[in-house]
Amino acid sequence: MADGERPPVEPAAMHAHLARCEGCTAYQRSLGVLASATAGLRAETPPDLAPRVMARLRRRRVGAQLALRWAIAAAAVTELAVALALAWSAQAAGQAAHESH
Ligand SMILES: [Zn+2]
Repeated sequence: MADGERPPVEPAAMHAHLARCEGCTAYQRSLGVLASATAGLRAETPPDLAPRVMARLRRRRVGAQLALRWAIAAAAVTELAVALALAWSAQAAGQAAHESH
């Protein structure tokens, strides 16, 4: 109401309430002070940061996907190495058992 917006309640009901409510009257007065204090101020339009933020997010997402791919590849290589080592030691053990007969 202080800034000219339509109040969400009936003006008559609001005035009736203000007439008997000290708290709301004080609040309304403070809004009026705030509105008149800021009436002459003009806010500068902030620069549109959305494209820069979106570009940075996209870059970060691509970086995370690359890191994930590298981690999966490293895990696969490690698994392969472990499997080869197990196969080799099993073969060596089998050969040793065979030769002992
Ligand atoms: Zn009140």
